[in-house]
Amino acid sequence: MSKSLQAIRGMNDILPEQTPLWRYFEGTVARLLDNYGYRQIRMPIVEFTELFKRSIGEVTDIVEKEMYTFDDRNGDSLTLRPEGTAACVRAVLEHGITGGGQVQKLWYIGPMFRHERPQKGRYRQFHQIGLEVFNLEGPDIDAELIVMTWRLWGELGLRDAVKLELNSLGTSESRGRYREALVEFLSAHVDKLDEDSQRRLKSNPLRVLDTKHPETQAILVDAPKMADYLDDESRAHFEGLKARLDAVGIPYVINPKLVRGLDYYSKTVFEWVTDKLGAQGTVCAGGRYDGLVEQMGGKPTPGVGFAMGIERLVLMLEALDKVPEELARQVDVYLCAFGEAAELAALALSERVRDQLPNLRLQINAGAGSFKSQFKKADKSGALYALILGDDELAQQVVGFKPLRGQGEQQSIAWDALAAHLATCVVQG
Ligand code: ATP
Ligand code: MG
Repeated sequence: MSKSLQAIRGMNDILPEQTPLWRYFEGTVARLLDNYGYRQIRMPIVEFTELFKRSIGEVTDIVEKEMYTFDDRNGDSLTLRPEGTAACVRAVLEHGITGGGQVQKLWYIGPMFRHERPQKGRYRQFHQIGLEVFNLEGPDIDAELIVMTWRLWGELGLRDAVKLELNSLGTSESRGRYREALVEFLSAHVDKLDEDSQRRLKSNPLRVLDTKHPETQAILVDAPKMADYLDDESRAHFEGLKARLDAVGIPYVINPKLVRGLDYYSKTVFEWVTDKLGAQGTVCAGGRYDGLVEQMGGKPTPGVGFAMGIERLVLMLEALDKVPEELARQVDVYLCAFGEAAELAALALSERVRDQLPNLRLQINAGAGSFKSQFKKADKSGALYALILGDDELAQQVVGFKPLRGQGEQQSIAWDALAAHLATCVVQG
């Protein structure tokens, strides 16, 4: 196939075999967020490039090398969003919905775009569910975010497979003092640092803590620790968060090297990580960003949020065999009709049944093929029951009702009684 007729590398079709699992995952998260009082917001996929540069920071992996940026026909520089926080902050400011200290608990879902090397769990178009909370500054809300995700892992059967890592980056003042100490320490070892870290030492020194390079990691063992530089307020905030996690019984480990890739975090940062996906181990990540809204031109507004990668969580559900069995069956009842008159009757009958059982998953395959081939399709659909409507049934105003999963013989059901009968044997969601 010519290249222009193929999907772009790292951008995937999600095929019908996979969409039930996606919808199950997305539906589970949406219900949970609704239940905690979060409301959905939908932002555009494209924003002015400047928005991301200002919010994410110029010296971050995303802005330096991962953005899909292009000029539109007016000559404006636009970017396909690499993450959701920037656009969400832009939206709340533009609509004035956080003004006057108004609390907003918002969530969003959708595709994000980053020009990274595609591999398992890492794509150029990927999908996130994210949330952002504005105007709540206490550790109770940081805890709520983590508690909700913990509940989600419970509902999905993933609790044993994920681990919570926590750190505090302090306020920008304490982080500034820590940065100085770290730069001083690293500068004394600059010859032994890997090239990337040498570069970061100048541009974004905290990111050196993030290195995957073993020699640099060895040097970092003796580096100053952020925890020793935390101001009292940040320390109290962090203790408050930990106390709440302890109260709910959520295990965590403190990872002093957890700094996150983006500039805008302060105080709490956290990641849920797994060892089930190889190198792409972070499934959900977030933190507090009390300075961001102001930095983007708004009034000082505390904020905290996270984003989870849907592809990675779907991969995990598959790898750990946590795909609910009922997803394999997308059809409850399969109606086979034979002959023109029976076909018309089948359509009318199926609509009557749908009137009474709006949640019934009823597939109708009128007219196509022999009895044998229709029956095969009925069986393959995964349906629990087949309904048969041919000339004989038409004459008697009945349908043949045949269990397909070995629960009993075929019986004859009157049209008028069909919906009531189906209601007793198909459990409806
Ligand atoms: P990583 O360290 O894996 O590159 P990140 O720190 O860049 O992740 P965030 O910006 O925090 O990721 O995004 C939140 C979540 O979105 C990640 O934890 C991950 O689950 C998911 N994610 C990020 N980038 C990708 C990608 N290219 N493909 C698939 N999922 C991704
Ligand atoms: Mg990344």
